[in-house]
Amino acid sequence: MSKDYYEILGVKRDATQDEIKRAFRQLAKKYHPDANPGDPTAEAKFKEINEAYEVLSDPVKRSNYDAYGNPNGPVAGPGPGPGEGTGAEGPFGRVFGDFGGFPFGNIFEEFEELLGGGRRRVETGPRRGQDIELELEITLEEAFSGAEKDVRIPRTETCPRCGGNGVEPGSRVATCPACHGTGQVRSTRSTVLGQFVTVTTCPKCGGTGKYVETPCRECGGAGEVTRTRVVTVKVPPGADSGLRLRLSGQGNAGVRGGPPGDLYVVVFVKPHPVFQRQGDDLILDKVISFPLASLGGTTKVPTLEGEMDLAVPSGTQPGAVLRLKGKGMPKLRQKTRGDLLVRINVRVPTKLSAKEKEILRQLGKFEGESFGENKSFFDRLRGVSGEDG
Ligand SMILES: [Zn+2]
Ligand SMILES: [Zn+2]
Repeated sequence: MSKDYYEILGVKRDATQDEIKRAFRQLAKKYHPDANPGDPTAEAKFKEINEAYEVLSDPVKRSNYDAYGNPNGPVAGPGPGPGEGTGAEGPFGRVFGDFGGFPFGNIFEEFEELLGGGRRRVETGPRRGQDIELELEITLEEAFSGAEKDVRIPRTETCPRCGGNGVEPGSRVATCPACHGTGQVRSTRSTVLGQFVTVTTCPKCGGTGKYVETPCRECGGAGEVTRTRVVTVKVPPGADSGLRLRLSGQGNAGVRGGPPGDLYVVVFVKPHPVFQRQGDDLILDKVISFPLASLGGTTKVPTLEGEMDLAVPSGTQPGAVLRLKGKGMPKLRQKTRGDLLVRINVRVPTKLSAKEKEILRQLGKFEGESFGENKSFFDRLRGVSGEDG
């Protein structure tokens, strides 16, 4: 309860939602149980990060936390007496904000109430659960053929003991003694602008008008519990970095009977040692011999489906790009595929037999160039720095 969620995420108290999200993602990636198998410290840290994010990413919980040090709003009294339940922290009070503790905080909202005579909106209906976002690293091979990957996600689920209402089975639900069941309390407050009579959500029952004698023993009245689940993610062939896969209903549990949120898995494809990816095309660097480049022929090249023959036209220059049509990545959710682009470089031989040298000299004569030395370029380099000195 007294944890500093800002410190846990390493953000300032006035951090924007974007900053909070960024900090959370970085830390969650670092301490994710998958990245630290069998490390209980990392797992504990991961839970802590999730808890902090759950509060700070939710504007209502965050403002409650800022005001009261408790995401569930003000806690009535120093602690529950016998049979008194947990007051505003109870099952129905968790998501309601009440700004009674602020001297000037919600003046404009109060004006609105005074002018319109309306009530503050109290959230008592079903609410959809929060979405969860997760990054998933895959290899290029997995992106090529598609893959099924298991991911571990901690998420909130409806408490199995109380079914989400936070009431210990067999316990009584009584009318709230603080508001007599109306869910609202009136108070007079002095502000810089004068005295205001305000109607606020009852802090004891959170606006429901009811309170629970014994909160559920499993969830402490929260109505939800955190569980780590293994979810299988189907990565389609052709997936690329940044692809967001939605797993409907696999997010956090809804509140008060609301539907669960969704799980979003963001794909990240690791770099490959041989192939570079450019959209649906793959790029491969291939060095061929000078005779092959000159005369033309075929050479073997690797693809993601094994070796293949590449036809090299005669007169292929260094830097030429040869295309193997349809041998690149599958296009996402299509039948067609990208190409494999082979960037050619030509090898200049350095170790030559006497016979090879003779052949090259013969060849060189046609170019009108003179040779004669038996030393290679490298031999001559060594000669300059060594013997001539
Ligand atoms: Zn429960
Ligand atoms: Zn009440």
